[in-house]
Amino acid sequence: MGEKVIIAGGGIGGLAMALTLNQIGVDCVVFEAVDEMKPLGVGINLQPNAVRELSDLGITAEALDKVGLPAREWALVGLNGNDIYSEARGTEAGYRWPQYAVHRGRFHVLLWDTFLARAGARSGRLGARVTGYRQDAEGIIATVAHADGTTSEERGSLLIGADGIHSAIRAQMHPDQPPINWGGALMWRGTTMAKPIRTGSSFIGLGTHEHRMVIYPISPPDPATGLAEINWIAERTLKDTANWEKSGWFRPVEIDSFVDQFTDFTYDWLDVPAMLRGADVAYENPMIDRDPIPTWQDGRVALMGDAAHAMYPTGSNGASQAIVDARVLGASLLTHGVGAAALSAYDAALCGPVSEVVLRNRGAGPFGLLNMVEDRCGGTFDNIDDVIPEEERRDFMAKYQAAAGFARDTLNAAAPTIAPGSRVAQGTEPTPAA
Ligand SMILES: Cc1cc2nc3c(=O)[nH]c(=O)nc-3n(C[C@H](O)[C@H](O)[C@H](O)COP(=O)(O)OP(=O)(O)OC[C@H]3O[C@@H](n4cnc5c(N)ncnc54)[C@H](O)[C@@H]3O)c2cc1C
Repeated sequence: MGEKVIIAGGGIGGLAMALTLNQIGVDCVVFEAVDEMKPLGVGINLQPNAVRELSDLGITAEALDKVGLPAREWALVGLNGNDIYSEARGTEAGYRWPQYAVHRGRFHVLLWDTFLARAGARSGRLGARVTGYRQDAEGIIATVAHADGTTSEERGSLLIGADGIHSAIRAQMHPDQPPINWGGALMWRGTTMAKPIRTGSSFIGLGTHEHRMVIYPISPPDPATGLAEINWIAERTLKDTANWEKSGWFRPVEIDSFVDQFTDFTYDWLDVPAMLRGADVAYENPMIDRDPIPTWQDGRVALMGDAAHAMYPTGSNGASQAIVDARVLGASLLTHGVGAAALSAYDAALCGPVSEVVLRNRGAGPFGLLNMVEDRCGGTFDNIDDVIPEEERRDFMAKYQAAAGFARDTLNAAAPTIAPGSRVAQGTEPTPAA
């Protein structure tokens, strides 16, 4: 097979790539900057298109059930507590694969452990930060800074930059890229043990476009107590953004530092301030993304996941898209062989459409219905049909799902991204992907 593929970054995207390469018979090594793999983060959603790919990678429903639970409903509720929109999700909406709401960190560790079990402990290197690359006729040379203060040069056939929103690979590939983009929204994230509401596994967007809560469980209820781990995001768009640091990520803060902004979110079916106070800690993040770039490829180097398309989390799509990137790239290696042509085909397939999703999420993504309610009635209504007719609401959501790649009928009918058993065979022409 020649040199290994080098993956910079062992997040969800880099590990989905590593598992895919391992599956199709391509040697790889993951260099991950952190010294220790810890279950960091709170809730994320895995859309059915990503769950399909995980299932094809042998990540079973039983494994996912240990780190989350299938989502059953997605709903938007106005600040007055009245429903704006709701739809079934996952298998209850007729998808062949469930949508999962998972604890990001536990899911991440599941991928890491699975990869090391399959590829061997030396295939994942912690405390190893890729700082740059160069290319020659034979392949790529990545520079790696190690936690012990040494640096090494690592030769590979390809370099995959899966190193997140602050990607060093992207910065080298696009030295003139603009700084991180922040639209002024701040998020406080946390989890609280509480009784799940509505279906028991509902994703709820509650409030207005600029002042809202997102709430969903990431565990089934404990049979003894009825309490589940509820993931929440309290969100506020600031008018004055001058004093905020926009590159901070997961800064722990006291609940008291922001709970007063949500005292109005109190209903007979949900007491948001009580739920927030039930958490031990909250993490403050600015909602940031990056302007799209014209290409994710430079010769034998390609970007994926947040390094390629960091997006606002309004569509619950960042981790799902990172997984899909890995699979499309894997399919491209099967079709074109392990070289720059495969990266070009991957780039041609995804960079344009996914960049559109990045921009769409700035316009509030599926939460755009909240903007419409705000614009049309100032957020006050008795019956949502008088504000946005049902057909218009459904049409709005269908367009988002099609753009984000999880339109149900298209997904259900699609052939696997990588046909079972496909391998890039040594010394032979690659086998075609489905
Ligand atoms: C600690 C953390 C917590 C998160 N929590 C949430 C959450 O609660 N909810 C949510 O919706 N999203 C969260 N996210 C983001 C979400 O995981 C990503 O948007 C999505 O999974 C896409 O993943 P990715 O692998 O492309 O990027 P990331 O998840 O950012 O992973 C990138 C990985 O690369 C490593 N890395 C960075 N630079 C280098 C380098 N130069 N060389 C080698 N390794 C490098 C990082 O340590 C990281 O492990 C979190 C991300 C991180 C890193």
